[in-house]
Amino acid sequence: MKEHLYHNGHIHCGGGQDCSALWVRDGRVFRTGNEELCAEAAGVPATDLHGACVVPGFNDSHLHLLDVGRGLGAIDLFGAASPADMAARCADFIRRRNIPAGRPLYGNGWNQDKFAGDPVLPTRADLDALVPDHPLLLDRVCGHIMVCNTAALKAAGITAETPVPEGGGIDLGPDGQPNGLLRDNAIPLVRAILPEESLEDIKAAFVAACARAVSRGLTTVQTCDIRSRDWPLVIQALRELDDAGLLPLRLVLQCALDTPEDLRAFLDAGIQNGRMWKVGPLKLFLDGSLGARTAWLRRDYADEPGQRGLCCLSYDKALTMARMADAAGMQVVAHAIGDAAVEEMLDVIQALSPDGSNPHRHGVVHCQITTRDQWDRFAALHAGALVQPVFLDYDHTIVTARCGADLAATSYAFGTAVRLGIPVSYGTDAPVEDLDPVRNFYCAVTRRPLAGGDPWQPEECVTRAQALACYTEGGACNEFAEAEKGKLLPGYLADFAVLDGDPLTLPEERLLKMQVLATVVGGQEVYTASGTQA
Ligand SMILES: [Zn+2]
Repeated sequence: MKEHLYHNGHIHCGGGQDCSALWVRDGRVFRTGNEELCAEAAGVPATDLHGACVVPGFNDSHLHLLDVGRGLGAIDLFGAASPADMAARCADFIRRRNIPAGRPLYGNGWNQDKFAGDPVLPTRADLDALVPDHPLLLDRVCGHIMVCNTAALKAAGITAETPVPEGGGIDLGPDGQPNGLLRDNAIPLVRAILPEESLEDIKAAFVAACARAVSRGLTTVQTCDIRSRDWPLVIQALRELDDAGLLPLRLVLQCALDTPEDLRAFLDAGIQNGRMWKVGPLKLFLDGSLGARTAWLRRDYADEPGQRGLCCLSYDKALTMARMADAAGMQVVAHAIGDAAVEEMLDVIQALSPDGSNPHRHGVVHCQITTRDQWDRFAALHAGALVQPVFLDYDHTIVTARCGADLAATSYAFGTAVRLGIPVSYGTDAPVEDLDPVRNFYCAVTRRPLAGGDPWQPEECVTRAQALACYTEGGACNEFAEAEKGKLLPGYLADFAVLDGDPLTLPEERLLKMQVLATVVGGQEVYTASGTQA
């Protein structure tokens, strides 16, 4: 029997209950109490929390952990100030690592709306002068637009004659030739030239990303790492890491399988869950992103008449795959940013569960552009809303221009969602945004930009307690784990974060500076700020 006592803390147990001492036994909370517990637990190894705050571990309901890890080895284009800056960063990456000509390179994070001058999309012409010989594949921060240089287009065999895949785009320049920009379903055409990733590459990426996650107080991530093209290798990597004790937090795998055939093969494989990971929902992609104007709207973009974004999966196809998953007892969640895509998924959920009981807890990821009646449908259908409040930091600068003031006024209505009793959980969609829960929490409760400024739609703020519940109990509920995660009560998993301040009471201006002192998963200290791990 392994046990430990944490005492002299300010412990939020969930459900409004507080205590100061937590007795952990064999990976679970054994008892909660106050100083009297210390006497009862005499002889049990103990940690004095010195008044630090303890919250149930953060549970991110949608991110891409493997991509976070991969990004640590890619060209970093976050915050690039211009297309020229992007090219310079690529050239610098190649020079520093002395990478031989011809080897394709991947980068991500650029966002034309963060450019210093005009928010123009970069093209191959911006990249070719500095990087002529290395194929460059540079994802926009959203992952829905990629810009390539001429070497990459050549290597992938993309010309003006290349057929454009359904739900994708190959942009042409004034000369009638591809200008290097690829959208959504056209991106795999060029991705195919990247060298095949090895098992060891995948394991290394997971290890790096897991270390980052636990350093920010995450104890579970619901991570979209299963894809049609390489899932057996990812499962093998997770099995090996799990067996070696190298997964410090819990993973729920969201499965982005492309076709009914791929889903069938995955289901037929009958994958057995590991100790620290389990198979989660089918993940469908219904549209693109707002920044790229590929989010699918029911009316024209206010700033681009004639454009309504992309429908990446028709209702019939989405329903076919959702029915297959549902019949197998599998949850379904769908990426839907525009109101047309949100409506499609609500229709799918209604078709699967017309009485609104939604036993498999199907839900919508992102839920950004919405009308008020859609939130009423969420409530009636008990549909989950897997939202990313931190997206507001950037999106509040574009949503009115993209959608018009009336539609913007009912969008990102995450306070309304909570008040209607909709099952809301919080995620960061990392690496789209940093996986740090503190930033996400701050945006949920203040609706202010991270760099400061006025709140956007302050009436859609939630209370601190509501935000914490969304990030803990809400996440647990989304993965059917509410009986053992999201609270610190006897019988629950000993998954928690020790913070240097209380997120429920810290002054607003100090919230963003909140530090994680330690992270405990299953009773094991998997991170401490001092660097020593138990
Ligand atoms: Zn995502």
